[in-house]
Amino acid sequence: MSFRVSSRMRAALAAASEDQIIFDLAGIERAYDSLVSELPGISIRFAMKACPVDEVLASLARRGAGFDAASPGEIVQALGTGVPAGLVHYGNTVKSDRNIVDAYQLGVRDFATDSIADVTAIATYAPGSRVFCRLATTGAGAVWGLSRKAGCSGTDAVRVLAAAEEKGLTPSGLSVHVGSQQMTTAAWQDAFNRLTGVLIALSRLDIRIDHINLGGGLPALGYRDRAGHALNPPLDAIFATIRNGMCRLREIAGTPLDFIMEPGRHLVADHGAIRAHVSRLSSRRQLTGDREHWLYLSCGKFNGLYEIDQLQYRLAFPTHHDGHTVPAIVAGPTCDSDDTFGHEHNLVEVPEAVASGDPVWILSCGAYSTSYTTQGFNGFAPLPVTLLPSEQMAHVDAC
Ligand SMILES: *Cc1c(COP(=O)(O)O)cnc(C)c1O
Repeated sequence: MSFRVSSRMRAALAAASEDQIIFDLAGIERAYDSLVSELPGISIRFAMKACPVDEVLASLARRGAGFDAASPGEIVQALGTGVPAGLVHYGNTVKSDRNIVDAYQLGVRDFATDSIADVTAIATYAPGSRVFCRLATTGAGAVWGLSRKAGCSGTDAVRVLAAAEEKGLTPSGLSVHVGSQQMTTAAWQDAFNRLTGVLIALSRLDIRIDHINLGGGLPALGYRDRAGHALNPPLDAIFATIRNGMCRLREIAGTPLDFIMEPGRHLVADHGAIRAHVSRLSSRRQLTGDREHWLYLSCGKFNGLYEIDQLQYRLAFPTHHDGHTVPAIVAGPTCDSDDTFGHEHNLVEVPEAVASGDPVWILSCGAYSTSYTTQGFNGFAPLPVTLLPSEQMAHVDAC
């Protein structure tokens, strides 16, 4: 499966005369539809942090998605779409007593957990709620491994869910997160193996859970790694592995088992793009004696491209199709040296003739862009958001 920029997005980028981030709501809806058809029986809880833009959330809610919220603030935003509180869960294992009280008052009754201390607090401040226990994964094979901060061993998970039952909570499920932009089927296989082991151990104790939460980790298709190589994740094989895993878990459970997933990146990354401009292309001799070209853009780590240390986004220079190029290091507009694209192994070919003010399109940056934007670091304000209407709205317009 490969990635191409839609003609809608291309036209919107071409029409933009000022810097902005553009989200294609129809593209996001198509990504949602395609995911639920690839994984029959899955319910989606969008991981809000990947793109907490009201219109994006509303589009997904209209499609039937619920939300994976990580704080009372996200719960409030999720409920603002009109979804019932039953479609929102507290997916963050890290929460204070106060956070639990607030979530409970907002109507949330499903909580992620991974420790006895957290279960005890949930039993106190959200009595009678449902809890699902997150299993630790290694994060191997992912561009962003998420190991250690959340999740526990299988043995601990059994203890945690047994404790939940004792304290009057409903031990409702198990969850995993294989790491963000997971590139391998082996990581999914490993996650299903862990889930299988814990499901069997739980049934020996006669603890019957009703769902498995497969978390996030599904990849974007349009990324290039730090060396500038297309990532090309094996999405079809990943889906096949997940379908098989779901079948196997259902067989083992013996009782009905629902599946939910919390995609973030996969649904939005390829349907967001930034219109930026060239700040300056410069050439400087370094202390090593090497001459380096640096392309400074109006957008970088602090106003939309937080993940540039792991990714080289695809760039397009719409006013320079042919002509001589120079290998350059690409960086954002601030005076912070972290505000630089990864360039250890490969420089980016940049048209030598680019001039300050020329438009630059930065592709596949719809995930973790608005949420990781600073409050105007160095005075560079967050990018304004432009939304390309969803199919439903386009239809209404046509009436
Ligand atoms: C961040 C996060 C997600 C989304 O991860 P992606 O890799 O963007 O799909 C899902 N679930 C939880 C608990 C998360 O923290």
